[in-house]
Amino acid sequence: MVAEFAVPGVVATGAGAFAALPDHARRHGVRRVLIVTDPFFADNGLADRAVALLAAAGATAAVFAGVRPDPTTANVADGVAALRAHGADALVALGGGSPMDCAKAIAVQAANPGPLRRYMGGREPISRPGVPVIAVPTTAGTGSEATNVAVITDPDRDEKMMLKDRFLLPAVALVDPELSAGMPPALTAHVGVDTLTHGIEAFVSRRAAPLTDPLALGCVALVARHLETAFFEPGNMAARAGMAAAATQGGIAFSNSSVALIHGMSRPIGAVFHVPHGLSNAVLLPAVTRFSLPGAVARYAEIARTMRLTGPGASDEAACLALVAGLETLNTRLGIPRLRDCPGVTRARFGEMVGKMAADALASGSPAHNPVVPTAGDIVGLYEAAW
Ligand code: NAD
Repeated sequence: MVAEFAVPGVVATGAGAFAALPDHARRHGVRRVLIVTDPFFADNGLADRAVALLAAAGATAAVFAGVRPDPTTANVADGVAALRAHGADALVALGGGSPMDCAKAIAVQAANPGPLRRYMGGREPISRPGVPVIAVPTTAGTGSEATNVAVITDPDRDEKMMLKDRFLLPAVALVDPELSAGMPPALTAHVGVDTLTHGIEAFVSRRAAPLTDPLALGCVALVARHLETAFFEPGNMAARAGMAAAATQGGIAFSNSSVALIHGMSRPIGAVFHVPHGLSNAVLLPAVTRFSLPGAVARYAEIARTMRLTGPGASDEAACLALVAGLETLNTRLGIPRLRDCPGVTRARFGEMVGKMAADALASGSPAHNPVVPTAGDIVGLYEAAW
């Protein structure tokens, strides 16, 4: 199998990366920029700071703050209208995965005909690139700043569509840990376990490749070292920097390998119950890992060793068991509830929707990359195991 590896043209990491926005705007020759963000950053002054930084580069910026968590096709359509109204020649995506995904989809939707659904799972290639996107993440995180993926919800079908194409890759990623330092502990936990899941799934995926393995394990090691510190000591900047780097590494790893069953099952939970993405990954992580172990014993054992959940002398089988136990302990320490206790989840709606959720998980294509490829019945059983 030939594996391609693609990353944004520039990935700048470290405190102060955001302040370099004018340099990157100048180098891309942008004159009119649409800042795509959510109401939180429109209110807290960060969007205004981006406007001022762009003005310093001679660019005129407008702000589109109409992105909701888990952005919808309607958010994308509103953003395309804002892009056209402003005559934007570039986008700055400012926020967590939701504004970044929305910006990437806006750029592509404005340049290509037809519904975004066509590009689900990379089935149909996107024919034309959109305007360049400069991605500035504020959670650590989805890694969307460095991925060829955008997740957009179709509310008519209760479905989170995973769009995948090289034209969804941002031109520039500015990864500044100072922007994620204000995250409250629960958000830190949810997005941090999302990052861990990216590292694990990229490493055990059937699409794992020589260039993705070191980044996937690097991501896992950084999360093991820094996530609990960032959660318990929100002001610890070394931990914030570690998690910001982990998120970008995990994003690059899975964008060039793949995600797998956890993400496949997580998106339907988000679409039906509006559970935050990182939380829905976290509730599934131990049970789906236990199910998947037989397909990649040596690789899961390496993850356990990388997370220091077991000593170097342990057998692969013992290391795998230590990994599942370690993931359960991590969830407990981070206050991750069971699926039944997540906000908005009810047994009645779960019973009504679980069959469709399993079908949508399979249709997304992600479970096909899992070390053990599940049936729809297996997936229903795993949702029950996480319940
Ligand atoms: P998000 O962008 O949905 O933000 C969640 C909430 O946190 C929002 O209210 C936001 O305003 C707030 N927030 C963001 N940064 C903050 C900060 N620094 N301080 C305080 N509050 C802050 O959250 P997310 O988890 O980053 O993104 C989730 C979305 O990303 C989902 O739709 C998911 O499917 C998608 N995703 C995309 C990729 C990809 O590669 N494109 C990968 C994983 C997940």
